[in-house]
Amino acid sequence: MTPAERAKELLKIYCIDSPEKLVLEDIAFAENLIVDEEDLTNCLGKIQFKNDLALIKISSNISDPGQKKFTLAHEMGHYFNEKEIRNSIFYACTYKDINTYNFNKKFETDANEFASELLMPTSWFANATKRRPLNFELLKEVAAQFGTSLTATAIKYVKHGAYPAVLVLSKNGIVEWSFVNEAFPYSWLKKGYKVRKESSAFDYFAGKEMQLCDDIVPIHTWFSDDFNCPDVGELNEQNVAMPSYNSVLTILWEV
Ligand SMILES: [Zn+2]
Repeated sequence: MTPAERAKELLKIYCIDSPEKLVLEDIAFAENLIVDEEDLTNCLGKIQFKNDLALIKISSNISDPGQKKFTLAHEMGHYFNEKEIRNSIFYACTYKDINTYNFNKKFETDANEFASELLMPTSWFANATKRRPLNFELLKEVAAQFGTSLTATAIKYVKHGAYPAVLVLSKNGIVEWSFVNEAFPYSWLKKGYKVRKESSAFDYFAGKEMQLCDDIVPIHTWFSDDFNCPDVGELNEQNVAMPSYNSVLTILWEV
């Protein structure tokens, strides 16, 4: 069973058919998972279980309720994904573990997939986003509707949304990771790519005011390393600053 299938099964068992009915703490309680908040340093959430006793701690320093909820769903993901294959686990999950798309830590990626499907079941997500133009205003609205984080919502959109899109997280002017929808025509955008001056994200890292509404940029701004990158052509780009992490989240889609 995949992490997403496990999340779907849980929603079915607890007869949850709308985002309003999903109370993670109630499911945790029914499953004998103890959930508590604590002043954690260096991580957003922790889980430890042994002999059917599981304890989850969520950082009391998370100010965004959506990030807090996604962190709890992520820790629950470790439990439901791994309880049958291990006798005991301990994880201290960092911002990067919880907010990165598909990097090389399988159990973190699986926990995120579980959390994404639990909080934003794909069919509900498709209904909430269909026939709506893509931009961060839509993603923020949907994140609020499902009570989850903007990054998790944007990742979900790139995976299952109506328009092929690309999500990029850059930090200190350098791309940390990108997630490209498989129907998008360009794909080569790797970690370490320097954010180009044509992008509004560049302004943010240069200490200038960043344009918040959507913008049109040359394709080579982001895909100059891609074999198929044309000399001319443009993309839509929109950015959101994440000052606590000196990062910018960028979404790109075709003009
Ligand atoms: Zn984790």
